[in-house]
Amino acid sequence: MLDIAYDWDRAFPASQRSWSMFEQRGASFTPRVAGGGRGVTDSMLNFSGVWRFRELLPFWKHAPNGQSDIVSVGEGRTNLQQADLLAQHLGFDLDNGGGLFLEYEGFNPSGSFKDNGMTAAFTHARMVGASRVACASTGNTSASLAMYAALTGMEAFVFIGEGKIAYGKLSQALDYGAKTLQVAGDFDACLARVRAIAETRPELGVYLMNSVNPFRLEGQKTIMLRILEGLNWQIPDWIVVPGGNLGNCSAFAKAFMELKDLGMIDRIPRLAIINAMGARTLDRIVNEQGVVWNGGRYEKSKVDEEYARMDRENDQASTVASAIEINRPVNLPKALRAIEIMDGVVRSFDDETIVEHKSLVGRYGFGCEPASGASIAGARGLLEEGLIKPTDRVACVLTGHQLKDPDVTVNYHTGLPTKQVQRWLSEQSAENPSGSVSNRPIRVADDIEAIIAAMGE
Ligand SMILES: *Cc1c(COP(=O)(O)O)cnc(C)c1O
Repeated sequence: MLDIAYDWDRAFPASQRSWSMFEQRGASFTPRVAGGGRGVTDSMLNFSGVWRFRELLPFWKHAPNGQSDIVSVGEGRTNLQQADLLAQHLGFDLDNGGGLFLEYEGFNPSGSFKDNGMTAAFTHARMVGASRVACASTGNTSASLAMYAALTGMEAFVFIGEGKIAYGKLSQALDYGAKTLQVAGDFDACLARVRAIAETRPELGVYLMNSVNPFRLEGQKTIMLRILEGLNWQIPDWIVVPGGNLGNCSAFAKAFMELKDLGMIDRIPRLAIINAMGARTLDRIVNEQGVVWNGGRYEKSKVDEEYARMDRENDQASTVASAIEINRPVNLPKALRAIEIMDGVVRSFDDETIVEHKSLVGRYGFGCEPASGASIAGARGLLEEGLIKPTDRVACVLTGHQLKDPDVTVNYHTGLPTKQVQRWLSEQSAENPSGSVSNRPIRVADDIEAIIAAMGE
């Protein structure tokens, strides 16, 4: 795994470190975005909730003509909702300092936090001259990748598995024109294939956009900056986030570690990573196997044993929270580091509890997709355990928009069956679509040569 480190004294000298600079940029921007093209101005960058904090992810560069390589469409313009009614419902003590804050990442252009990462990774892709990008996805990564690829004129490949993918997300990838391959395997198999293609077939020139790409995590750090900004730069007691491929939690801890190193904060909040019960690899590895970061020398053999057990028992991830339906999280080592940095805990909740808490977010007036509901389930569970105190200030990350997965919501409210898009292309009766930009997914075997053939020239 690669991690990005900076020479901070050069990149962001002590004399320039202040919150007010970031704040002022947020207040004075040009609401015109560069559409992903070149010629993005500083004022346009200030509109972005990622690049407003550009000194904290200083891998990008200015070209000699003063223009930067940065790819931005005004992502990260999210907000932190002070959710008092929901907080009361869950048992927070608002009169004595307690509070629940919802960081609503559904406001991003493609409707999930993934845009924070894609803007950074596409910036890097452009710096290295990439023209073809690919990812495996449970949905939101593909939606975000396809959007940025369309905006920058790059060729996009999306690998989806036979697990669940919400219609909202699939519709985005198709609409943005990504070549969508439905591989006969689960998400973990798709990711293994796309990594193999990116890493072992350099002649194909495919740039990998999954969160194993460290540049994505640089962009996702800014979610924490915006939470701090929403709290007037005060540090909350807890950050709660769903855990899938574990990129987000890894990015969050890196943000706090760096802010502490930079002398901009003196305290780091605690972290709660929430798994779905049907995809609780991290929970098992941390709470049952007792694996800890240990300065990078974590007990890899215990992780391997766990993966071997999953293979033996054909234990495949399964949860209604499709965005976290992942059993082999690529960022596992970084998540162990995150737990160390932020004194973190891991918990799992069943689908019913996750959907119940997703629905509470809706009922109290914001809404989110199922996986995001895991963070609210986590806050409630940790309150009941007594680990989170009613007087704590807790920020839950709502990772994706309510409308990403309306099937689960309608099912919850009506009891009618969900229409998860499972093996949906097996219904071959569908006529070939005839729109001028119709973009039908291609079914392909879980085989690297077949996949490369399906990718076309
Ligand atoms: C991707 C995603 C997650 C999981 O995030 P990781 O960084 O992979 O742990 C959670 N919720 C939503 C809505 C997502 O799209």
